[in-house]
Amino acid sequence: MTPDEIRFAADGMLQSLGTWLRLLGYDCIGDRDHWGRALLDQAVAEDRVFLTRNAHLNTNLPHDLLARANIVFVLAEHLPDQIREVTGKFALDKERFTFTRCVACNVPLVSTADMTCVPSDVAARETEFWHCPACGKTFWRGSHVRDSLIRLQKWLEPGQ
Ligand SMILES: [Zn+2]
Repeated sequence: MTPDEIRFAADGMLQSLGTWLRLLGYDCIGDRDHWGRALLDQAVAEDRVFLTRNAHLNTNLPHDLLARANIVFVLAEHLPDQIREVTGKFALDKERFTFTRCVACNVPLVSTADMTCVPSDVAARETEFWHCPACGKTFWRGSHVRDSLIRLQKWLEPGQ
């Protein structure tokens, strides 16, 4: 599935997973201040898959809300296994859309030629730059981006 076809909300215990989903280019809401019932309400309203590890979530929730919600319990305890579980379950693309979304703001990045905020050595080395319309930061495929990708590929290798 592509980022146009699926959107997520990551509950309280799954913030790192949410960050990695955004890094892969998928829309995922939820943070330290926005989780649980409030996040579930938004997920239902916006037709998002609600990812949670809270086994007691269903208790005390209204039936009509549960009927409309798309709740997925993430079984894996550790982040690499969680990424493998969720990308596998929803057949997410692990390469095509990486770094197309701001990991902090969850909005799509736009290609830019404005290098005002880019250090001169980076401007000389890199050829492509992206701008986040929400936080105003400029990004390039620097070494930490490559390191993240290498780590991700390693995590997703079968038999890890
Ligand atoms: Zn941003």
